[in-house]
Amino acid sequence: MKNITVIGAGTMGNGIAHVFAMFGHQVSLADISQPALDKAIATITKNLDRMVSKEKISKADKNATLGRISTHTELKNAISNADLVVEAATENVDLKLRIFQQMDELAPKDAILATNTSSISITQIAAVTSRPEKVIGMHFMNPVPIMKLIEVIRGYATSDETTQTIMEMSKGLKKVPVEVNDYPGFVANRILMPMINEAIITLFEGVAGVEEIDTVMKLGMAHPMGPLQLADFIGLDVCLSILRVLYDGFGQDKYAPCPLLVNMVTAGKLGRKSGEGFYSYSHGTKEWVLADNFKK
Ligand code: NAD
Repeated sequence: MKNITVIGAGTMGNGIAHVFAMFGHQVSLADISQPALDKAIATITKNLDRMVSKEKISKADKNATLGRISTHTELKNAISNADLVVEAATENVDLKLRIFQQMDELAPKDAILATNTSSISITQIAAVTSRPEKVIGMHFMNPVPIMKLIEVIRGYATSDETTQTIMEMSKGLKKVPVEVNDYPGFVANRILMPMINEAIITLFEGVAGVEEIDTVMKLGMAHPMGPLQLADFIGLDVCLSILRVLYDGFGQDKYAPCPLLVNMVTAGKLGRKSGEGFYSYSHGTKEWVLADNFKK
C-alpha cells in the first residue's frame, strides 16, 4: 500500500493526507477546488511546523512529508496508480455515490476504495461500484494527526481480506482501529450526534446559553470540549447531514435535527471553517468568542 489517493482536501482530507505522508506513503490529494488544495497544504505545513517546534519530528521529516504530497484538481491524474483511495469529500449521499462511480472507473482494479463518511451507508456506496468487497469505511477522527481512533466499518459485502488489510494499515499509522458494522451513524456518531443535537435544542428552548451548556458538559462530565464548541469544530453542515442520515435511517423523531441547527446552516454559519457558528473565530486571534447572535 504505497500510493494513497485522498479525495477532498477540507477539514478531514488535509489531516488524512498529512498522516499517510508522515508514515512514508506517497499521497495524491485531490479536490475540485484549487483554493481548498492550497489551504490544505498551508494547514499541513503549519501542523508539521508545530510538531517540529515541539521536537516530535525533525525539519527533515517535515520536508520529506511535504515532498510526498502532490495536489490535483483532476481526479484521473490523482488516482491512476492508487493502492488505496480514501474519499473525504463533502458529506452528501448523491455526491459520494457519484465520486465512488468515478473512483471505481479510474482506480486500478485491485485498489481498495475507502470512505471517511461520518454516517452514510457503506453498503449503499459499495453497491454503485463493481468491487463491493473492496469498499470499506475508514472513519478518521478530527483532528486527524492527533486523534488515535479509526472506526473501520464493514459494509454488507466487505471481504475479510479488505477489512484485515485496513485494520493492519491503520495500526501502521499508529492509530487504533475499531471494527464496527454498517448501520446509520455507525458507533461514534450514533452516540455523539444526538448529544450535540440535544445541546442545541437546550439552547433553542432557552434552558441555558452557549457558554453555560458547554461549561456544564466540560466541568460536569469531564469532556475536553463542550458539545456546541465541538459542533463548531466538526462543522454544523456535517452535523446536520449526519442527523438527517440517522433520522432517515431509523425513522425515529429523536434524531430530528433542531430547527436552530437547520437555520444556522442555511445562513452559512458552519462553525469554525466559515468563521462563525455558536462561537466566532474571525476576529484575528487564536481565541474564540461567543458569536453575536448568542450574546445576551
Ligand atoms: P469539508 O467541507 O471541510 O471538506 C470537503 C471537501 O470536499 C471540500 O474541500 C470540497 O471542495 C471537496 N469536494 C467536494 N466535492 C468534491 C469532488 N467531487 N471531488 C473532490 N473534492 C470534492 O468537509 P470535512 O469536514 O472534511 O468532511 C469530509 C468527510 O469527512 C465527510 O464525509 C464527513 O462526514 C467526514 N468526517 C468529518 C469529520 C469532521 O469533524 N469534520 C469527522 C469525521 C469524518
